Amino acid sequence: MPYILILILSLGTKSLVEVDVSRSDLPELIACGFELDGYKDGVARGLVDYERIIDLEAYGLDVRVIYEDYRDANRWVYEQPNFGYYHSYTEMHAAIESLARDYSTIARMETIGYSVQNRAIFALKVSDNPDIEEAEPTFIFDGDIHGNEIIAGEVVLAQAKKLCYDYGSDTLITRLVDECESWLIPMDNPDGVVAGTRYNANGVDLNRDFGYQWGATGGSPGPFSQPETKVRRDIYWKNYSLNTVHFHSGTELYIYPWGFTTMATPDSARMEYIAQRYTNYFPVSYGQIARVLYSVYGGSTDYFYGCFGDLAPAVELSYWYAPPQSQIDHICEQNVGGMVELMRISQFGIRGIVTDSITGQPLPARIEVNNTGWQVYADPLVGDYYRFLLSGTYTVTAHANGYYDKTVSGVAVPSNGWTVVNFELVPEDGQHYGAYAVPSCRTRRNPSPSSDIYFTLKCLGTRDNQSLRLNSNGWIVLDMGPTSPIINNTGNDLTVVTTTTGQTYRVYVADTLDGNFVQIGQATQTASFDIDPSGLSEARYVRVNASGSPAIDAVESDMPVGVAEPEVARRIDLKVLQNPSDRIRFQIGGPGIYKVRIYDCQGRVVDHQNLNLKAGKSSVVSRRLPAGVYFLNIEGNNHSRTEKCLVISR
Ligand SMILES: [Zn+2]
Repeated sequence: MPYILILILSLGTKSLVEVDVSRSDLPELIACGFELDGYKDGVARGLVDYERIIDLEAYGLDVRVIYEDYRDANRWVYEQPNFGYYHSYTEMHAAIESLARDYSTIARMETIGYSVQNRAIFALKVSDNPDIEEAEPTFIFDGDIHGNEIIAGEVVLAQAKKLCYDYGSDTLITRLVDECESWLIPMDNPDGVVAGTRYNANGVDLNRDFGYQWGATGGSPGPFSQPETKVRRDIYWKNYSLNTVHFHSGTELYIYPWGFTTMATPDSARMEYIAQRYTNYFPVSYGQIARVLYSVYGGSTDYFYGCFGDLAPAVELSYWYAPPQSQIDHICEQNVGGMVELMRISQFGIRGIVTDSITGQPLPARIEVNNTGWQVYADPLVGDYYRFLLSGTYTVTAHANGYYDKTVSGVAVPSNGWTVVNFELVPEDGQHYGAYAVPSCRTRRNPSPSSDIYFTLKCLGTRDNQSLRLNSNGWIVLDMGPTSPIINNTGNDLTVVTTTTGQTYRVYVADTLDGNFVQIGQATQTASFDIDPSGLSEARYVRVNASGSPAIDAVESDMPVGVAEPEVARRIDLKVLQNPSDRIRFQIGGPGIYKVRIYDCQGRVVDHQNLNLKAGKSSVVSRRLPAGVYFLNIEGNNHSRTEKCLVISR
């Protein structure tokens, strides 16, 4: 009988075990096929093939088996109709759909993309005016990126219900719905949920597939290689989030970046502050991912923090992947308390709108609080930004390509509230654009020098003699920004600025993050490159691969040629509406016959007509233009005026 049992168990059976092991031996244990879920006080807990337990014991490890057949122990979860009280994928879809239907004035359901097996990845947006993007802080709550950790999706659904059910009756919830935009994404990995597995249908651990500090682990063949990861990345570009909370299970912890290194982030004190408040409601211990759990490369938290400055914690909900159904309500209740508190307090600090001082149009700006934490971004569509800060006095700087930096000092932040700091940036007649964000990279685990806590931020903007030292085979992808791609002009188009010489690097460009990065050259010190070999007319992304150990200060592009604009030109009252949009829409202050010309980035006229314009009426350039940057020039009454427009595809 035992023989038969072992025979059955050996057929792909996963066992949940605990192993006494030192932290430094963890990588070796994982290399043996051990799926680590938690590490605490010298004990690693995780799944291993039943037949490999004997191998681990042969290494002299003390292996304690908690469940010989973990899946069988959880069979009541996976094989009962509808997962018992857990929502199946179909039921979760229906539950979110019914919230959107029953609370249509504050909730809207959206399919944000599709999985490998073509299942919808759906989200619920909860806010007043849910169909419009307003100048309000965004919060994202997501679960089930690991498809077997299904308590995560239940907690996200519970938060969606809390916001909908208590709107109008609970003062705090009403305020959080009216003044914030919440995105609830219960099932990041629908195929994994349906199959009852951690991985997606390609066998990839999606929480190792994000670009920032991607490390070729978890079966990920490249940064953002999976459709589910792209969906989570792309919803973010439309809704910059102040605080995204990722839910998992397998241990009980509140954790925050970094995952790839034990070096603390420059925001660790602020992350710890929010952790303390959250865990008043969900009493678990907290700490930095790589210190209290284990190293994670290509994880979602490092991406959202490293690329956007989102504080991006993760909550591990239970030692069970799917705790008994009797525990679901209690875990949800505690974490809803934590989420509501997190939404309330992480708005403390500073906030504001960044606009062009002449046109009033919102700008995609980077906001830096000097020597205090990572930078954050103003939303490119609305111009609003939010930065969580504890009480104190701060100096804040806004940077945007094509504009002078603006610094405001002596900004006093109260202990339980926020201070508004708006920026009206003045267009600059400078020569260069700098990089805007770092969507993916692989840098040193332990930056050199170790005090270099702002490492990737040092490559952003134009040259400032602050640089990121890459190690051999390290690389970084720089996003030049949503409105300032590198344009293929005659001659060189971009300059890689290094503070080292004799250290080799190669340069690649692409027009999308998922596009083919084409090599355009290599150098050993500061050098300029022509993007012509790529065949692209515009390149938004630049990748630098190190073969030596170069220190990258900046990647600069030449500013678009555009058209000359004399100072008198400002006298025409021209407003570009809904910029960016799929069409160029504008409005003029005084009526008359005007020459309307559209220039592309190389200064070529792509459309021109004479129009009889009425004051204050919206006009649309009828010609359909491919997505890109254009200049709208209006001439009449002896004056001329030019405005930059961004056309996006619909
Ligand atoms: Zn997980």
